[in-house]
Amino acid sequence: MPYAYDDQNIFAKILRGEIPNKTVMETDHTLAFEDIQPQAPHHVLVIPKGAYVTADHFALEASDAEIVDFTRVVGQICRALGMQPGEGGVGYRTISNAGEDGVQEVPHYHLHILGGRPLGRMLQPAG
Ligand code: AMP
Repeated sequence: MPYAYDDQNIFAKILRGEIPNKTVMETDHTLAFEDIQPQAPHHVLVIPKGAYVTADHFALEASDAEIVDFTRVVGQICRALGMQPGEGGVGYRTISNAGEDGVQEVPHYHLHILGGRPLGRMLQPAG
């Protein structure tokens, strides 16, 4: 089944400038902004500007340029926030929720970057 993109999702509205955001970084293909309900001292969302629903959609259908740009932005944010373990930082976590089991709330692909405190184990037992 093809990926169906809902252009009324909240991140599409952010990309169109219809609602504000706290931008951390912007490039030709990628926007990074602060999560409105941060779960850690650093909580940044990285989104492609293209209409992709999930990580697999982006990985399979985005152009090489979009994928490289997105990936570099992730690295630049981790560096800017001083979270790189190899460079004296104490780490971070990236998460991308997809679909129903992944409990994805916003159907525009986004990568959460979380850090600034110990983050605990990756998953809690299913409730
Ligand atoms: P997910 O469950 O991965 O789809 O998470 C969506 C994330 O988007 C949540 O962490 C929300 O806090 C965040 N969010 C929703 N609306 C906004 C907004 N207007 N600006 C920034 N972050 C938002």
